[in-house]
Amino acid sequence: MQASELAANQLIVTDLLSELQCHGVRWHDDTGLSRQGGAGPSDHKALTVGEHTAMIPILNRASLSSPYLARPSANGNATEILRDGQIVGQVSLPGVPNFYALTTADGTPYWKIATLHSKDVLATTILQHCVRMNDTSNACQFCAIDQSLKNGKTIARKRPAQLAEVARAAVELDGVKHMVMTTGTPQTADRGAAILCDSAAAVTAAVDLPIQAQCEPPDDDHWFQRLRDSGVVSLGMHLEAVTDEVRARIMPGKAEVPLARYFSAFEAAVKVFGRGQVSTYILAGLGDSEDAIAEASERLASMGVYPFVVPFVPIDGTPLANHPKPNNDMMQRLYPRIGTSLRRHKLHSDDINAGCAKCGACSALKRHE
Ligand code: SF4
Repeated sequence: MQASELAANQLIVTDLLSELQCHGVRWHDDTGLSRQGGAGPSDHKALTVGEHTAMIPILNRASLSSPYLARPSANGNATEILRDGQIVGQVSLPGVPNFYALTTADGTPYWKIATLHSKDVLATTILQHCVRMNDTSNACQFCAIDQSLKNGKTIARKRPAQLAEVARAAVELDGVKHMVMTTGTPQTADRGAAILCDSAAAVTAAVDLPIQAQCEPPDDDHWFQRLRDSGVVSLGMHLEAVTDEVRARIMPGKAEVPLARYFSAFEAAVKVFGRGQVSTYILAGLGDSEDAIAEASERLASMGVYPFVVPFVPIDGTPLANHPKPNNDMMQRLYPRIGTSLRRHKLHSDDINAGCAKCGACSALKRHE
């Protein structure tokens, strides 16, 4: 293929994945392998086009109104994506990971302890409960952390030894490259940092696997060094929304931790983990303006914090299930602005040791760096 053809093809691929990420896809036949609910990309399926793998919403009700339909190709070897009856692309699905077939000595399937995200990331939610989830006046309205537990697709608490066992198998059998450890926020002032330390230490002792921990800013910055000493090599503290108005409306409990605390925690964490090893998830489409997201991203990038901006996906069973899906035109305007900030401050996802921004599958930002 000529270089010009290749470039054109890449553009189409990335445009298609970005479109699918915002609209979702109507799926001809769910295989039952995707996980519904939980933290992270719920109701999604990993789809690969060429070299690119992206997490695409397919199981939520919002995807039923998508103009895109997936169906098996005539020869059954691929999955075609159609719009208005025209084939606009072909995708493939990563196979079922080998480690999903294993169970622990106490009979817990490995896939209830950690799951494969995208094509090479092992992800777990250590505590499947959050201090705010049962109080509708405080809970984050986009969050579905309790759903996978209710559906019997996970266990309430993953013990360090279980995580170590699964991580070793996922590396040996499936070649996973890095691990994301997130957690529901417990009642304690460390906001989950202590259990992240215990879990990371156990995994690190068992297998060579870079770990990103994700938590709210803990009460005391000394937790950052403890996390680092436990084997965590990258840290995510997720803003989700960047303005006080949207934070108060969408995530009233979490908004009680002020933005100023997030920024002081980012500053302290960058000193421990290094520039570019601290990141934050920002959900575009919840109400923050493009300018607000771009300005926050510039401020974060200047501090050495990678602003991982992703399109918001409405998840069934949450108060935002019927919230409008983000507009891909908006995302296509936002991504280059954030990409400019990333380049200005010399941040690149390939340089991140582990975690969501390194994976990049929930966003098209990687392709604008
Ligand atoms: S970006 Fe994060 S949440 Fe999304 S698939 Fe990758 S590891 Fe999972």
